[in-house]
Amino acid sequence: MMILRLFCPKCAHAASKSLVDYAEIDVLSPMSRLSDTGKYEVVCDCGHRSAVVLQNLKFELLFEMGINAIVDGYPREAVSSFSAALERFYEFYWRVALAHLSVSDETIDAA
Ligand SMILES: [Zn+2]
Repeated sequence: MMILRLFCPKCAHAASKSLVDYAEIDVLSPMSRLSDTGKYEVVCDCGHRSAVVLQNLKFELLFEMGINAIVDGYPREAVSSFSAALERFYEFYWRVALAHLSVSDETIDAA
């Protein structure tokens, strides 16, 4: 199970407007798998339910998970996260390169 550090936009808004003295905006969210769209549903300790979209590319998140696994003492999990991150990076490069060559999205997805 991966832990993503997401945030609650409602708590963050309240903290930015000084509506509360202190707000814990981080929401540690266990995920069985990463979202392909980057969209996640967050429920914070205050019970706010929000949708959060991460702009990080998938390989960045997987790489960070590999680092966390090393720090936490799980080298086997780190290797699989780094391996998945490298694979996603290759895919990212491939999609960018084909888009640069004006290959259509449909053809890229089909390949
Ligand atoms: Zn909240």
